[in-house]
Amino acid sequence: MTKPRDPRTIAAANGIAADSGFGAVTPPIYLSSTFVFPGYEQAGRYEYTRAGNPSRDMLGETLAKLEGGAGAVVTASGMAAVDLVLGQLRRDDLVVAPHDCYGGTYRLLSIRRDKGHFDVLFVDQGDAAALSAVLAKKPALVLIETPSNPLMRVVDIRSIASQAKAVGAKVAVDNTFLSPALQRPIALGADFVIHSTTKYLNGHSDVVGGAVIAARQHDVEALGEWAKITGVAGAPFDAYLTLRGLRTLFPRIERQQANAAAVAVFLQKQPQVSAVHYPGLESHPGHAIAKSQQAGFGAMLSFELAGSAEAVRRFVEAVEVITLAESLGGVESLVAHPATMTHAGMGADARRVAGISDSLLRLSVGLEAETDLIADLERALSKAAG
Ligand code: PLP
Repeated sequence: MTKPRDPRTIAAANGIAADSGFGAVTPPIYLSSTFVFPGYEQAGRYEYTRAGNPSRDMLGETLAKLEGGAGAVVTASGMAAVDLVLGQLRRDDLVVAPHDCYGGTYRLLSIRRDKGHFDVLFVDQGDAAALSAVLAKKPALVLIETPSNPLMRVVDIRSIASQAKAVGAKVAVDNTFLSPALQRPIALGADFVIHSTTKYLNGHSDVVGGAVIAARQHDVEALGEWAKITGVAGAPFDAYLTLRGLRTLFPRIERQQANAAAVAVFLQKQPQVSAVHYPGLESHPGHAIAKSQQAGFGAMLSFELAGSAEAVRRFVEAVEVITLAESLGGVESLVAHPATMTHAGMGADARRVAGISDSLLRLSVGLEAETDLIADLERALSKAAG
């Protein structure tokens, strides 16, 4: 068989019909925690599942091909993936991170800084002067999240990566919001791509997982070794489910982003909505960069509700098709209130600096009929208005 090259083919078919045991079309699941040594001092390909597992490797190989990396390490959560990269740092190292990154990443970086594991500077990476001022301090790692969670700010990966390289920093991009179907950071200069596979890659809100894809083999090996030492690798059953979800990544995200675009246009026209953050809108400040580095605008958006905290409460209590819940990237539409949910752990001051207001709502747009989604939003907005 010719090697599959198109990412859509990789997602649908990597590892299909490759089972040497029984000719299974779907890659089998290997739940075993341990593997036979064929003889004294003779380890087989696999020894122990914390160190390596065929089902986990099948997912890692597929993700690495999709992201154009040398290999991947599959972790137990997205946060474990972020921390796996941070585990490569030394005490004197500096990390530069976006001031409006995912709240859990912000919390992890802040706590590790406070424990003295390394230093961190949070910066608005869209502010060229602020960015070059922190890069002058010669960071070891620049962490990028674009589009950012929850404000959907877009930064230029290629430009930041080349500036970071010039000062000797490695670059990690959290690609959770878009997936490799819509953005491939390694081709833009990143050393690492981080995923919460919990989101679009699995796509069905029934697994928590993560992955780091590295551009170079020696980084894959270093990360793999650290995952083995710390025991953060993902479970085989989770890897199996995630690969199963990944098969439909492209059609899911293409359909979901069409719904998101329709929702964004609808919200923009509503008097109860004071701002819509969706990079697909021409009015979005990151529209041109998104167009140049993304293959689509994705299915995440956020918006500001005009009115008081009471309006937010009335809105989230009124939705019926859309569910009030954290997380994103599943086939079902979810609404979250970042200030009290996903970004509560950041603290009010950091949220203010990042521009995350108490009236901001985040939408993960799913696969439901566009007409039902818009009718649900219309009803909830009229309830919000009181
Ligand atoms: N990165 C981003 C951008 C996220 O949105 C999340 C979770 O919401 C994470 C990382 C953490 O992933 P997990 O919840 O799988 O640990």
